[in-house]
Amino acid sequence: MRALVYHGPGQKSWDEVPDPTIRDATDVIVRMDATTICGTDLHILKGDVPAVTPGHILGHEGFGTVTEIGPAVSTLVPGDRVIISCITSCGSCSYCHQRLPAHCLASDGASGIGWILGHLIDGTQAEYVRAPFADNSLHKIPDGVSDDAALTLSDILPTGFEIGVRNGRVKPGDVLAVIGTGPVGLAATMTASLYGPSRVIAVDIDDNRVEQARRFGATDGVNSSRTGSKDRILGMTDGLGVDVAIEAVGVPESFELATELVRPGGTVANVGVHGRSVELRLQDLWIKDIAITTGLVSATTTPMLLKLVAQGMLRPDQFVSHHFRFDAILDAYATFARAADTKALKVAITR
Ligand SMILES: [Zn+2]
Ligand SMILES: [Zn+2]
Repeated sequence: MRALVYHGPGQKSWDEVPDPTIRDATDVIVRMDATTICGTDLHILKGDVPAVTPGHILGHEGFGTVTEIGPAVSTLVPGDRVIISCITSCGSCSYCHQRLPAHCLASDGASGIGWILGHLIDGTQAEYVRAPFADNSLHKIPDGVSDDAALTLSDILPTGFEIGVRNGRVKPGDVLAVIGTGPVGLAATMTASLYGPSRVIAVDIDDNRVEQARRFGATDGVNSSRTGSKDRILGMTDGLGVDVAIEAVGVPESFELATELVRPGGTVANVGVHGRSVELRLQDLWIKDIAITTGLVSATTTPMLLKLVAQGMLRPDQFVSHHFRFDAILDAYATFARAADTKALKVAITR
């Protein structure tokens, strides 16, 4: 088969590699119908994720058709169309029992992480993939879920919902600021609607992206690179600040802005992947009764989100901005990496 292989920082290619085979009894083999690229893949290619060693196939998102099942797989049969979750869950370790498979201990007991595809084992940017703990980690695609919508359920929709909206404790009537309007920030914007906020303020440094956020449910938009932007956002509240500030960028400036916008008693939900230390101004924050939350998605809400998508209550197919074939995956990477110019959100790569 062919697959996108990481060859060290800055180096990748679409290589001929051996087909995956069943290794453990709980594995299935999936023929990928579509995959996509995540910001995390770009971090890996920069060399920011040393656990990914050269020779690994990248990718942790996508869907496909089961072609082979291990002897212990009980809920899937060849021919099933399945979404592959970015989180692999054994279902029986202590973290899986706590509904926190983000830290599943089965794959790597030392660090405990459920994100193994395209990280610790070969991933989904390939014609075929071996999916471990398949009964717990794959989701059959119900009728009514389009291919483009299915692509958003591996990672961005559950991540935006669980780490942004749910960790942020969004309640009816809340005023939210979503800082960063990339795919995950927009996924938080879209799924926040499930809790009925009164205002969702999209904050970004790019006018186009601020405007685009309205299609995903933002009621207001502010370009944070303009002077006076913080006061403009505060002016959209009762002056006390937002109830929930969702940080979906991952740089010190955006995190600090989130802590400046949140009102006493509110929540800063960090979703962004940070590569540098941030300044936490506890001298201002200690008295404000705020909560700061962090997390890696556990993807335990994927079945619920799938139901809402199947019923048309959420319409995430609009996340897919570009379509490519597998043999043009390097073009897909180039398009996704220049998102500011190409206006790429999610790029679908199909067989
Ligand atoms: Zn991802
Ligand atoms: Zn587990």
